Amino acid sequence: MHACIHRLTSSTQFTLWISLARVWGDAGLMVFGSIGRQEWRSKMAEKGDRFMAHLEAELPLGMEALVLPFEDKRVGLVIVDEVNGFCTVGNGNLAPTESVEAVTEMVKHTDHLAKQFSARTWPIIAFLDTHQEHKPEPPYPPHCIEGTGEENLVPELLWLESDPNTTLMRKDCINGFVGGIRDDGSNIVIDWIKNNKIQQILVVGICTDICVMDFVVTALSARNHGIMKPLEDVFVFSEACATYHLPLDVAKTLKPPAFPHPQDITHYMGLYFAKSRGARIVNKVSLL
Ligand SMILES: [Zn+2]
Repeated sequence: MHACIHRLTSSTQFTLWISLARVWGDAGLMVFGSIGRQEWRSKMAEKGDRFMAHLEAELPLGMEALVLPFEDKRVGLVIVDEVNGFCTVGNGNLAPTESVEAVTEMVKHTDHLAKQFSARTWPIIAFLDTHQEHKPEPPYPPHCIEGTGEENLVPELLWLESDPNTTLMRKDCINGFVGGIRDDGSNIVIDWIKNNKIQQILVVGICTDICVMDFVVTALSARNHGIMKPLEDVFVFSEACATYHLPLDVAKTLKPPAFPHPQDITHYMGLYFAKSRGARIVNKVSLL
């Protein structure tokens, strides 16, 4: 998704990215003069693999296999922003420019899960990033503008529009909890949890480290504050989440230069921060 120029806003992540940029950048400068570009890329890939192994060793996610229903509790599925503007090749400023395997896998897992939830009449809510042309969402370029089609579910999930178990919620900011606040102060997500007596949510979608993570950490705070009753547990399904890829060597050629956003690392860090706030990360989900 080279065209994507999401920028990170968290200061913690900013610090991390500065040090990561140094690691990748220095290595590139050192070796690029003496060897070919292809060899440099392969060395960088090797270095990336080593860095991922280091992350996994130092920040283990304790991935679990989830069998639903879990502890006989009532579960709801939260689908974050699986819309054309983020997932369908060529659909706007923040859409991928070529097919991305992680996005394809995310949509496939989501469709499969949603069909199983729907068949059991278990509740589903789908967030749809949707903006008005006159109201920008800094620091992002215009995206998912109402009426462009970017703001609609990807073709594989369009069936959710007429699914009686599914609530569609349009939002104009990263965080689905904040986006769910109505003019009168009530909240669509809180009402969905309450009206469906949901004790656990399973969260999937895009981007792992942006809209998914922000929603998850806020939902956990809201639960702890006592305003998400009867919610108890938040699960994030890693295989059904995805984020975009903007490697350093591409990011610095953009005008203006963008923050680098290597897909594997940022996906992992999104899951890590969700877990650090109390979410449970699962890498396999099956329904009884
Ligand atoms: Zn947006």
